[in-house]
Amino acid sequence: MAIIEAMQRELNYPYDTHPAPGTTVEIADGVRWLTMPMGGSLNHINLYLLEDKGGWYVVDTGLGTPRTAELWDEIFTGELGGRPVQGVICTHMHPDHIGQAGNITERFRCPLYMTRAEYYQARAYSSGSGGFGGGSHSSWQGAVFYERYGMPRDYLEQLAVAWRGRSSEGMSMPEMPLGYHRLQDGDILSIGHHDWHVVVGSGHSPEHACLHCKALGIMISGDQILPIITSNVSVHPTEPEANPLQVWMESHDKFLDTPPDTLVLPAHNLPFHGVRERLRQLIGHHEDRLLAIEESCVEPQVAKDLLPVLFARELDVRQTMMALGEAIAHCHLLMHRNRLERTLHEDGRYRFLSIDPDLARRAHPDQHDAPDDRPMMV
Ligand SMILES: [Zn+2]
Repeated sequence: MAIIEAMQRELNYPYDTHPAPGTTVEIADGVRWLTMPMGGSLNHINLYLLEDKGGWYVVDTGLGTPRTAELWDEIFTGELGGRPVQGVICTHMHPDHIGQAGNITERFRCPLYMTRAEYYQARAYSSGSGGFGGGSHSSWQGAVFYERYGMPRDYLEQLAVAWRGRSSEGMSMPEMPLGYHRLQDGDILSIGHHDWHVVVGSGHSPEHACLHCKALGIMISGDQILPIITSNVSVHPTEPEANPLQVWMESHDKFLDTPPDTLVLPAHNLPFHGVRERLRQLIGHHEDRLLAIEESCVEPQVAKDLLPVLFARELDVRQTMMALGEAIAHCHLLMHRNRLERTLHEDGRYRFLSIDPDLARRAHPDQHDAPDDRPMMV
């Protein structure tokens, strides 16, 4: 944790506070910042507006709640001076980013811009298709998944009950627009006087789009690069053999090319300078966690018993799901690196065992970062 705090000082935050709900703040010529409310410790999501000749592009949309819709109404009639929205760009398919995509594109009859994997995953998870997770939390696939990773037999039932509470918080998946314009890595969107390069990352979600304007020195980073909290990177029952932490780490390497003076506009926390420092910090943080897991697995371990290595707090049912997904993601990357071996035992549970003969030399059990407070639901 000491290391993280030292590195945190290398980041620089040009704004002290967030815009009040229903208002916007100009970040640069043709770039405005607003927030929409969220529950829990996150409190809000940052959204951005890009000005074009005839109107505005909206980048991410907030939760699908009546309150967020009301606040958008205020923004459209007040701050935007009645000029239309010309397009909605969603960085990725999580509910706080796509919640109002349908409403806004309907209202203005404007296109939705997303990458292909994000759009189709959102369509697959939207209401009527089992909701977020595609219904896998109440399927036999979900039951097998949680059993193999060490959860008690009634965990899936507990999760189903907790899941029902999501819709009242706006965390359920909305109906998506029936068509979209595809974004791809390397695309350039010309909006107003500026070119925005699409830079795709992965790991937190399958094909997450960031927008980088080199001339303005600004990157809209969504949940791909956050300055304080760490994005959730999880394995879920829908793709139980996935290795999302590997592509997450590869994405960090790719984003290290971002010019060092870039102002990063994230979806949570405050805009910041210091993108390369932050990426190096995140890479170091995950490498530290990976090593801590290897050290724990000198004796065979089930994934559930690795949660205290990653998280300090007692976790509720949903937080446990996120935390377990993260623990499995770390284990899968270690398997890919030939550092862990996974075997299925007679009790139906996987056990992970460290197999790198060099571990004793690399291990430093007394020098790890303190476990995180709890997993973030973003
Ligand atoms: Zn997200």
